[in-house]
Amino acid sequence: MEPKDPPDQARLLRWRAEEELDDPIQHNQHLPPGKDLQWELWKTINRLRTGVARTRSNMVKWDFNNKEDDKCECGERQTDEHLLNCTMNPTQCTKNDLAQVNKNAIDTATHWLQYKI
Ligand SMILES: [Zn+2]
Repeated sequence: MEPKDPPDQARLLRWRAEEELDDPIQHNQHLPPGKDLQWELWKTINRLRTGVARTRSNMVKWDFNNKEDDKCECGERQTDEHLLNCTMNPTQCTKNDLAQVNKNAIDTATHWLQYKI
């Protein structure tokens, strides 16, 4: 199926449409907040806020797991969103917390860092 618009126009329109989504993460040319944190911690926060954490769900999707087990130890499906409010995580966290890199975000990333997520 051919796109209606030329590829460069289609990309621009798609980018603008994505920007209109209710997402606290803003596109910019600067490093996101938290760049002065320990590298492993900042990496985990960035993975969490961009939806590419090494969750069991993503590992199955990316075909890095031999088994089809995408369940968290709590029993729920372990997705990026799940990590923010999993009952195993002592801190509840939101996407806004991750965008601001506040204490909730740091505590959540510290917790999941133990699981190499
Ligand atoms: Zn869980």
